[in-house]
Amino acid sequence: MKRTNQFDVHPRSKTEREVFKHWLDASASLWNETNYARRQAFIEDDESVWNADTGKLDGKYKGVLSSSVAQQIIRKNSEAWRSFFSSNEKYHAGTLAERPSPPGYWGNEENRRVLRTYVRNDQYTIEYGECSRLEVPIGSELKDDLGLNRNQRLRLEVAGDPKWRGEQGRLELVYDELADTFRAFQPVTVPDSRLDSPLASEEAALDVGANNLVACTVTTGSQYLYEGRDLFEQFRETTERIAYYQSLLENQRESSKRIDRLYRKRTNRRDHAQDSLVRDLVERLHDEGVSTLYVGDIKDVLSTHWSPRVNEKTHNFWAFRRFINRLEDVCEEYGIAVEEESEAWTSQTCPECGEREETVRHEDSLTCPCGFEGHADLVASKSFLRQQHNTVGAMARPVYLKWNNHSWREHHSLPSGAVETTANEDYTNQSTTSSENIALEEAQND
Ligand SMILES: [Zn+2]
Repeated sequence: MKRTNQFDVHPRSKTEREVFKHWLDASASLWNETNYARRQAFIEDDESVWNADTGKLDGKYKGVLSSSVAQQIIRKNSEAWRSFFSSNEKYHAGTLAERPSPPGYWGNEENRRVLRTYVRNDQYTIEYGECSRLEVPIGSELKDDLGLNRNQRLRLEVAGDPKWRGEQGRLELVYDELADTFRAFQPVTVPDSRLDSPLASEEAALDVGANNLVACTVTTGSQYLYEGRDLFEQFRETTERIAYYQSLLENQRESSKRIDRLYRKRTNRRDHAQDSLVRDLVERLHDEGVSTLYVGDIKDVLSTHWSPRVNEKTHNFWAFRRFINRLEDVCEEYGIAVEEESEAWTSQTCPECGEREETVRHEDSLTCPCGFEGHADLVASKSFLRQQHNTVGAMARPVYLKWNNHSWREHHSLPSGAVETTANEDYTNQSTTSSENIALEEAQND
């Protein structure tokens, strides 16, 4: 089974950083030039894609990239074209609904270049220890810049422990512009026996929204709540700034550098938070022995589930399809199945008495005439899980997570309503509720 280790990569000096960035940048140029040559050939005739002169490009870039990295980029591009041709065949045979597009360039939606490269499995080494190190091949021109000799490679510090040990695959290195960080993704093949867990039969269900990005309930009774308010607020503010600068533009111009930069910032920030959320959540679920994860059907999510106030901004913000794709990828990595199911009614149903019509949803809380009061999104994820014929264990105190622009951190004070109350319990006022929470925290910290 394939798993992926993820590391942050730290160049040790300013020069090393420049060299490393140059190396990634040249990789992107080589990909884009290779792809351009092949797209031009493709326009003439399908078959001639493979006749594009990539040897010339290899020669042009190996001084910076090293010969093995240059070849790796070209090979990666070939794989993308083969995959395109295979989808195209399926499309013509009628087994694929959507017409595939030829491989694209390395850049994001605002045409900004994405700095990235790939290193073949036998061309890099990672040593773990007090100061973990990554060594990658660079071309002779860059070696000269760093004063390295012919046989030396670029040596960088990496931070993070390997989660998985096994046979290493092709390394991917990416520059995250927003976080101004270099990241490494190392796929490893792990023997199956290490992954199979007889305990892995739990299930979980997600509820997605904008105030709370994700609420999740597990059959073990665990609950997770990923708060999205600040992120959404940032997204909204950036959208307004974009609209403002657009209003200042002369009619004949469609955009400006400032606007492009804002779009890019908005997208990068969302993607980073979303990707981190997916990984954080899936790792937690995997640790709990979850084998199936239920998510709402996209039609429900976009129409019935969200309030009418939810508009295009929210759709852009959520990029729900992107989220699900990411979720499926990471779940596959951990051997968790993702199932899309209808979640109709789950956000209005009282988990105590089943009432649907008389419940009141106000901001984050759901109250029922029967005396039940709880956090609307957590309740929705729990009802959704129950709908899949699951019994849910005794509820634990929800884990509440907030984004700090780098990672999702647990917060000890829960938002109001996150702990359910029912008519059967002594109804306590706010001060006793919070002291109970503190008592719980203390008990958990012991
Ligand atoms: Zn009720």
